[in-house]
Amino acid sequence: MAGVHKPHPTIQSDKIPSIKMDLITNSLYFLGGVSTFAALNNLLGRPPRKHEMQHIFFAGIALLVAMSAISRTFVIQSTDIANFVADLKWNVTYSLGVFLLIPWFTAAYAHKISKAYLIVVNLMIAGCIALNIYLPLGISYAHLDTLLITPLPWGEQITHGVGRHSIWGYFAIAMVALIYAKSLADIIDTYRARRRGVDLHMLVAFVLFGIFSSMGLAVRLSLLRSFSPGAFSFFVVIVVISMALMRDNQRKIIESERRFRTLIEESPVGIALTRQSRLIDANPIFLEMHGYSDIQHVANAHLAEILQLRETGQPPEIRTTPTTNATFESISYRADGSEFPVYVSTRTIELNGELHLLTYMIDQSKRKESEKKVEYLSHYDPLTGLPNKSLLLKHLRRAIESSGHKTRWGALLHVDLNNFRILNDGLGHAFGDLLLQSVGKRLSNKTRPNDTVARLGSDEFAVLLTNLGTSRSEASALAEARAKEMLLTMDRPFKLMANEYHNTSRIGITLFDRDTGNIEDLFKQAELAMYQAKTHRQGSICFYEPHMRDTVTTRLGLESALRKAIDKREITLYYQPEVDDQNRLVGAEALVRWKHAQRGYIPPSQFIPIAEETGLILQLGRDLLDIACSQLHLWQQDERTHGLVLAINISAKQFKNRKFIDDIRATIERHAIPPENIKLELTESMLFDNIEETIESMSALKKIGIQFSLDDFGTGYSSIQYLKHLPLDELKIDQSFVRDISTNDSGRNIVRAVLAMAGALNLGVIAEGVETQQQMEILSTLGCTRFQGYLIGRPVDARTFESFLDKDSSPVT
Ligand code: C2E
Ligand code: CA
Ligand code: CA
Repeated sequence: MAGVHKPHPTIQSDKIPSIKMDLITNSLYFLGGVSTFAALNNLLGRPPRKHEMQHIFFAGIALLVAMSAISRTFVIQSTDIANFVADLKWNVTYSLGVFLLIPWFTAAYAHKISKAYLIVVNLMIAGCIALNIYLPLGISYAHLDTLLITPLPWGEQITHGVGRHSIWGYFAIAMVALIYAKSLADIIDTYRARRRGVDLHMLVAFVLFGIFSSMGLAVRLSLLRSFSPGAFSFFVVIVVISMALMRDNQRKIIESERRFRTLIEESPVGIALTRQSRLIDANPIFLEMHGYSDIQHVANAHLAEILQLRETGQPPEIRTTPTTNATFESISYRADGSEFPVYVSTRTIELNGELHLLTYMIDQSKRKESEKKVEYLSHYDPLTGLPNKSLLLKHLRRAIESSGHKTRWGALLHVDLNNFRILNDGLGHAFGDLLLQSVGKRLSNKTRPNDTVARLGSDEFAVLLTNLGTSRSEASALAEARAKEMLLTMDRPFKLMANEYHNTSRIGITLFDRDTGNIEDLFKQAELAMYQAKTHRQGSICFYEPHMRDTVTTRLGLESALRKAIDKREITLYYQPEVDDQNRLVGAEALVRWKHAQRGYIPPSQFIPIAEETGLILQLGRDLLDIACSQLHLWQQDERTHGLVLAINISAKQFKNRKFIDDIRATIERHAIPPENIKLELTESMLFDNIEETIESMSALKKIGIQFSLDDFGTGYSSIQYLKHLPLDELKIDQSFVRDISTNDSGRNIVRAVLAMAGALNLGVIAEGVETQQQMEILSTLGCTRFQGYLIGRPVDARTFESFLDKDSSPVT
């Protein structure tokens, strides 16, 4: 070796100097101690995490270096100079190696040191270590003058070299000071930021380390002639830092334990831990789910016993084998024996060297309930509890598909309540709801096991009848019989909140078999048939026939045409004369006429019902009233027509409209006509729906002078009791009785009765539909004094009507 030039330096064994410890040696011991502690702490305390791996690595290396240094201590007993130099080199190398770790250690603790800094420092130290062999960092090998032999109490000795320091030594000291300064700065920063006990401990330890190291350095440089605290200082420092770290560690463990406990206890998922199928621990939600108040009740119990898990599909095998990771839905049992649906997930884990099974469990009862609710709402009508259309469709599809090879017929019935809207609007929705519920019940009572009653919406119900035999005719007869049964039960009065309500319905029926193609079409067919039933008498049944489709399409066409006609005022009034027994013209009935550009005249019997259903009648009625009044105004100007009374037909919807009375008043005023010349024709059915209101409205109009005639008299069910209360002026005998009058006695008797009744009530009577002279004569002999009919005159337009007047004041043709 190049450095060993002086083979015989002075050896002073008698001189016992103060113990000199190198700065480097000090730090070595210090770091070795801290690292040992950190390593042990980490290994025994907590599971390693990111920085703790760093600690362990660091501690391992430091330990190695420390052990090696201590082992060298015994080698330094040699007085052989070559041996001593080799030892010196090793010593410095170890120390530098440990310095390599200081920044790492600080980084792990303070998290502040940048990677670039670490790399630079490490490279520099590694460089120094490499160079140390040739350019000694401590005492220059060339100038090693004296070896001091220090005997140890147990009889051994330590050799110290005395000589000139190498220039590299100062560089190493400067570098170590820099590393120290940087680490100290970081620790101070960390303390400032967190101000925790452990940070203060750390800081104190580091400052002590600095002081002791400086003292060691000063002794070495002979600046300080005292005992070097090195060997002792590292001990103090280790104790201080160890205590700090231990406390910090404990606090962290408690904190994390608390955190994890909360996580587990507050988890909405039930968690249980089992070993060899025995329950060891469970979180509160798991116990609560199963109706246990305390883990004590179930600790050590067999998992399968508590849960009675019946894994769907597989047998309940809860074993602690590594293959038991499973997820499944199952049923679990509470302490009281009640069952509930659960979602289970199991994991096998290794804990303290033993296999455990972790079971996660979620109570599914709420979810299952809401699923059921959703399922219910999507298939059932909440008001009546009946299936809705979508469920009915399913049943219908099934009925069609399941009819098999043999043709088996079924029927779809569309049930509609008459006048439901009137009840609903008039008496309130609570009544309407009650009625719908009762209807649903009554219909359900009339079904057989495979049938379905469904509510399609508002007042529409549908009934699916299955197994109606193997031929169409048989099915048709059966379906009709069943429909009749249903109508009968619906005809009985309903009791709604202590009120009796009489309701009628109608049913449209369509038949199907397995060859039926489009199911939606069936619904349309049943509905069409129901509409057809609507135009019959109330409470009737109608089977679907293919031509109905055409009726509906023309009907739809008519509706839109009617709308346009009203807008364009294509609709006018014709006037049919009314005469007295002297054949004198006393008035006329205004009858609506619509001449369609392509279809010609469309009879009122076709479009008035449509106008009523669609509500168009309100606009139409107002228009017609306006025409009638302007006509009356014209008649007012002519002496011959001055006293004529014009009868105007009013439909039910028009009359019930709140604005009706005001409309009439306004129209009369606008045309400046005497109200006495207006006679409103009402029908029986519209009067008795709400008799009080009717009387009120009629009286209001009566007060201004308007007259009333009861149209089609005799076709309804008017009793004299009711008629008494109505402010009527006239009864109009229906043309059906007039027709009968010359052919049979009963017609004549009815007319006689009507005349008697009218006499008793002090009302006038007019006969309509008088077509023959004979009818006229019989009516006259019975006491009738007013007549209307083709015999006297057909309805004609205003101009033609006036032309009658010129002919000798008699319109009779
Ligand atoms: P209605 O009020 O009973 O009118 C009498 C119907 O008998 C009229 O039919 C008239 O043309 C017809 N008629 C008159 N004399 C004879 C006769 O001697 N023999 C026969 N067979 N028939 C006769 P029209 O004009 O077709 O009206 C039918 C129904 O339409 C009316 O029955 C009425 O309910 C309704 N209507 C007519 N015009 C209006 C109107 O302006 N407003 C309202 N709301 N309904 C009207
Ligand atoms: Ca009439
Ligand atoms: Ca009539």
